Amino acid sequence: MLFASIAEVECDKNIITFDLFIISMRDLYMPTYRRLKGHDTWHWCTDCPHWPTSNYEEVVKHGRERPASGELDNTCLARERAGTCSTK
Ligand SMILES: [Zn+2]
Repeated sequence: MLFASIAEVECDKNIITFDLFIISMRDLYMPTYRRLKGHDTWHWCTDCPHWPTSNYEEVVKHGRERPASGELDNTCLARERAGTCSTK
């Protein structure tokens, strides 16, 4: 960057700002998936009636990523589709 003009520096700043914006947007949705130990079904809506509050295992995923194994809870799926799923 030794010979960069002011215009190029300004341009770089914009690109960096834009990247940070994209990253922060993507990180906004980071649901925590929980399932009871010994069970297959993952829950990720904290207001799901079956949201585990003790004796559970937990994984945090980015965006639309899902846990690598196991089942997804139908109640949580329905809430997500309806837009009424509160995530941790
Ligand atoms: Zn659920």
